[in-house]
Amino acid sequence: MAAAPQPPTILSFEDARHEVERHSREVRPGGTESVSLLASMGRVLAQGVAADRDFPPFRRAMRDGYAVRAADLAHLPATLQVVGEIKAGASPEDVPLEIRPGQAAGIMTGAPAPYGADAVVMIEYTSLKDNYVTITRGVTSGDNIVLPGSEAPKGQPLLTPGSRMDYAAIGLAASVGLESLTVYRRPKIAILSTGDEIVEIGAQPGPHQIRNSNSYSLAAQVAAAGGEPNILSIARDERSHLLALIEQGLQSDLLLLSGGVSMGKYDLVEQVLAEFGAEFFFTGAQIQPGRPVVFGRAQGRYFFGLPGNPISTMVTFELFAKAMLEALAGMAPRPLQFLHARLKAELAVKTGLKRFLPGFLSGEFENVEVKLAGWHGSGDVAAMGRSNCYIVIPEERAKFSAGEWVAVVMR
Ligand code: AMP
Ligand code: MG
Repeated sequence: MAAAPQPPTILSFEDARHEVERHSREVRPGGTESVSLLASMGRVLAQGVAADRDFPPFRRAMRDGYAVRAADLAHLPATLQVVGEIKAGASPEDVPLEIRPGQAAGIMTGAPAPYGADAVVMIEYTSLKDNYVTITRGVTSGDNIVLPGSEAPKGQPLLTPGSRMDYAAIGLAASVGLESLTVYRRPKIAILSTGDEIVEIGAQPGPHQIRNSNSYSLAAQVAAAGGEPNILSIARDERSHLLALIEQGLQSDLLLLSGGVSMGKYDLVEQVLAEFGAEFFFTGAQIQPGRPVVFGRAQGRYFFGLPGNPISTMVTFELFAKAMLEALAGMAPRPLQFLHARLKAELAVKTGLKRFLPGFLSGEFENVEVKLAGWHGSGDVAAMGRSNCYIVIPEERAKFSAGEWVAVVMR
């Protein structure tokens, strides 16, 4: 018995995005594992990372120069007796016991400031003769010395669970002595391409056939977003075949389908999902490319039905599916953020849909420009090869002049 699909729900881009975000907050990652520090790059932290001691652990000099008592430099130039030299790595025994009035100690960046000194004068403002240094510039108490714990006191959280490890996080973890970290397991993401015209990439396609590129672009997007892709066989546009493969896909943490969600007679994906008792949160969004995008849940698993045209598949993954994948990977939710750039040339579009068109961003420093990659519709993979971003065109305007600011999503 074929269950009747629910009536279509076409949402604005923003509402559709918020719907995905709302559901993403409901999911939890599947488990944790321990990985070595460098292997944690790109992974999502399942533990906190805290300062294991004060940062810095001692009164640290920030400059090469002389440790002084600031009050000694009230009248310039001032000449002080040099009573020692403190290198980075110097232990307490190497440090002069105390800097008394009229005295200074040579000091290097990263070395502990000696007792009595309350500032460091940069070497550039000093000259040394015999054991005396002449200083030509005054300092304020505290200058060029970082106090213990001022960056982070012992115990302060530095990274929270749910953050993604990048090079800065790796550096932080290293600085608190962590050689391994607990991260969330990567969610398993099933990828199911559908269509009678689709053939495996190793096969020689007939003139009427198309190679299955979507399973591969999606697998790459999944991996980049922190998931473990599992490419299933290509589903024919036939109920029983789709049923078997969707059943298999619903065993994973998330199911991504490509194709079969438009209005055609053989677009059966929604109908077959309904047979699994699927709830549909939306069955379309006011965007181009990607308007027929579907988001729902069946048997406790979320799924996205992504339109089969290759650019539609890629864009709708980035705009919607990625947020759910990141949540399943344990990442704290983050809103979709746009950059802004000036249009290099004027641009005309039809109104009514928010567009995410393949664009090329170029220029440097504050003169970043973007132009259309010149596409021939949602199936134009060649345009994707010429592009490095998507230009976001609001739904209500038809004409944009050169030099206008537009929003951009980087790829
Ligand atoms: P559909 O969304 O099923 O109507 O598919 C739209 C068009 O996208 C098809 O005519 C194909 O040209 C193309 N297409 C669908 N699935 C794939 C795929 N897996 N890989 C590459 N192109 C595809
Ligand atoms: Mg199809």
